[in-house]
Amino acid sequence: MSQRLVLLGPPGSGKGTQGTLLAAALAIPEISTGALLRDQMARGSALGVEARTYIAQGHLVPDAVVNAMVRDRLGADDAVRGFILDGYPRNVPQVGVLDQMLDELGWRLSAALEFSLAENLVVERLTRRAALEGRADDSEDVIRERLAVYHAQTEPIARVYRERGLLKRVDAAGTVEDVTARVCLALGVAV
Ligand code: ADP
Repeated sequence: MSQRLVLLGPPGSGKGTQGTLLAAALAIPEISTGALLRDQMARGSALGVEARTYIAQGHLVPDAVVNAMVRDRLGADDAVRGFILDGYPRNVPQVGVLDQMLDELGWRLSAALEFSLAENLVVERLTRRAALEGRADDSEDVIRERLAVYHAQTEPIARVYRERGLLKRVDAAGTVEDVTARVCLALGVAV
């Protein structure tokens, strides 16, 4: 059965890492809006130039931009097999837009996986990643702002999916392998 998954969780919770592993194991595309936006920025496209100001400040890129990007990506041939959305939806209005896109495509979500991690571990991981990857939005001020945006705008999404019976919470502490094992258990898949 096709897996159509949404990954939720704070920046630094490891959802990107798990999303990549899971996508490879299930042979379905991983659709990361953060990665798509960084790709546009690297190419210096108009969309990338617009996104850069928001991302550098830890703010969300305007919904219209991200919605159009996801609509486009879900329309590609490989998404028919299933998909893992990482970083989208990121606020409650985006949930509604995704609902509409899926309706039009005749698809239903399989689950929303929420990666939970204590705030001190989140900050620790992001600070470490900043040193390793040098991402422009991983500076201390911007990390703080991204976490604030996460609590205010993204966290409420979990409730929406919980009420639909789609939410599965995964403890994101521990090693990558530990978390992968929990993800597989939650989804009933083998990796
Ligand atoms: P992280 O989850 O580690 O913060 P991402 O790579 O998912 O990093 O996202 C980086 C940035 O890209 C976000 O801070 C935000 O500015 C932008 N972004 C990604 N997805 C969305 C989205 N669905 N809506 C608005 N902005 C987004």
